[in-house]
Amino acid sequence: MKDKISLVGGGLVGSMLSILLAKKGYPVEVFEARPDMRKSNSYAGRSINLAMSHRGWKAIEMAGIKEKIDEVAIPMYGRMIHDMEGNQTFQPYSIHNDAIYSVSRSGLNQALMQIAEDLGVDFHFENKCIGADLDSNELTFQLSDGSQKKVKTNISIGTDGAASELRYAMQRKGRFNFRQDFIEHGYKEISIPANADGSFKLEKNALHIWPRKDFMLIALANPEGNFTCTLFFDMEGPLSFESVNTREKAKDFFEKYFPNIPELAPDYLDQYENNPVGILGIVRCAPWNYKKTLLLGDASHAIVPFYGQGMNSGFEDCTALLEMMEEIGEDWNTLIPEIAKKRKPNADAIADLALYNFIEMRDKTADPRFILQKKMEGEIQKRHPEKWIPLYSMVSFSHIPYAEAWRIGQAHNEFMQEFLDLPNIENRWNDADVVELIDQKLANTIF
Ligand SMILES: Cc1cc2nc3c(=O)[nH]c(=O)nc-3n(C[C@H](O)[C@H](O)[C@H](O)COP(=O)(O)OP(=O)(O)OC[C@H]3O[C@@H](n4cnc5c(N)ncnc54)[C@H](O)[C@@H]3O)c2cc1C
Repeated sequence: MKDKISLVGGGLVGSMLSILLAKKGYPVEVFEARPDMRKSNSYAGRSINLAMSHRGWKAIEMAGIKEKIDEVAIPMYGRMIHDMEGNQTFQPYSIHNDAIYSVSRSGLNQALMQIAEDLGVDFHFENKCIGADLDSNELTFQLSDGSQKKVKTNISIGTDGAASELRYAMQRKGRFNFRQDFIEHGYKEISIPANADGSFKLEKNALHIWPRKDFMLIALANPEGNFTCTLFFDMEGPLSFESVNTREKAKDFFEKYFPNIPELAPDYLDQYENNPVGILGIVRCAPWNYKKTLLLGDASHAIVPFYGQGMNSGFEDCTALLEMMEEIGEDWNTLIPEIAKKRKPNADAIADLALYNFIEMRDKTADPRFILQKKMEGEIQKRHPEKWIPLYSMVSFSHIPYAEAWRIGQAHNEFMQEFLDLPNIENRWNDADVVELIDQKLANTIF
C-alpha cells in the first residue's frame, strides 16, 4: 500500500496534482477551504480567465483532459496593440504560429476536480487548514460549522496558494526564508459583452493590450463571446485607483486613454465603480520542504501575472515531480527535498521574468526600438532556428527551464544592442551588410 498523500488546497495546482498522484496509484485526499465550486459555482475571486501555454498543456495532457479543455480554449496568436487613437496593430508571438490559450479559471478547476474525483481522489470541502504539526504530520482543519478536526497523514503537500497555512507552519520551524513583496499596481476586471448575435466585438484570437507606460489594460476572450479586460493601475498616486475615484474622473480617464472602451463596454462606469481592486504580490521562500511536507504552486512561488505563467509554473511543478518519480524512484524522503531544490531556481527566474514582462507589455510594446528589435530577432530566428529561440518562445512555447530561458534571454538582449545602435538601423536592418554583421557575430557567440 502506498503512502497516503494529503493536499491542502484544491485550486488549480492542488486539483492537477491530485490527478497525477492518483494515476500513480496513491491514495490522495484534498482539503479545500471553499465550498465545492461545481455546486456553488463560487467565483474564485481572481481572474476570470487565464492564459495557458506549453507548460500548462503538458500537465493537462498528463491528466488526460486535453480534448475537453481544447474544446473551450481560445488560441491567441499574438498581441493586438491598441494605441491612443484607437488604431490596432497585431504583433505575432512567434514565427511558427504558436499560440497561448485563454481558458476559464473556474471551468478548468471544476474539470480537474471532476477527473480527480472520478479517479478516486477524496475531496473535503469547507475544510480550512488552520494549523499543522509538521513533525508528526498532523493537520488541523476548521469546518463550516466552526468545529475542528485533526487528520494524520503520511505526506502533506501545501497547494493552498499565496497565503499558505502550511508555509506559515514551516516559517515557525526556523531557518526558513520568506519574503513577500507587493507591487505598486493593483488590478480591476471589466467585461466587454458579446454582440447581440453572440459574436466577439474584438479579434478573439489575440491578447489585446492598451499599453500606456505606467499602466495598461489587457483583454482575453471567453467562449461565451465576451472579453474580460484587466486594468493594471497604480494603487496610489496622481493617476491611480485611489485618485480616479468618481464616475466623472473614470469617464475622463477612459475616454482619454482607452477611447474605444466606452463603446465596447457601455456599462464600463458601473463596472469600474462596483468591481473590486485586487492586489498583486510576489512570494519567495526557501526551503519549500520540511520533513514529509512540501509546498508547490503559489504556496511556494506566487508571482505577478504579467507573463501568464503562475498557473503554468505551478502545473510544471506537478509534471516535474512526476518525472522525478520516474527518474529517482518514490522514496519521499529523497523526493521531497530534491524536487524543492530543483524547482526553486526556476521559480525565482519566472518571478523576475514576470516583472520584466510587465515593463515590456505596458511600455515597450509601443516603443519603436523594441518593435524593431523583435522584428530583427524574428529574422535571426528564421535564418538560425536552431541557435535563436526568442525569450517569449522559450518561456511560453518550450519546456526549457525558466532559469535557462532567462539567462539566454538576457544574453540575446545584450547581443542585439550594438546592432540597434547602428545609424539609420530602422531603414537598413534587413540589408545584406547588417545581416552579415549579425550572422558573423552570431557564429562566434555561444549563448
Ligand atoms: C489577475 C491574475 C491573472 C492571472 N493570470 C494568469 C495567467 O494568465 N496564466 C497563468 O498561468 N497564471 C495566471 N495567474 C496566476 C494563477 O492564478 C496562479 O498562479 C494559480 O491560481 C496558482 O494556483 P494554486 O493552486 O497554487 O493556488 P490558488 O489558485 O490560489 O489555489 C489555492 C487553493 O487553496 C485553497 N486554500 C487556501 N488556504 C487554504 C487553507 N488554509 N485550507 C484549505 N484550503 C485553502 C483556496 O481556497 C484555493 O482553492 C493570474 C493571477 C492573477 C491574480
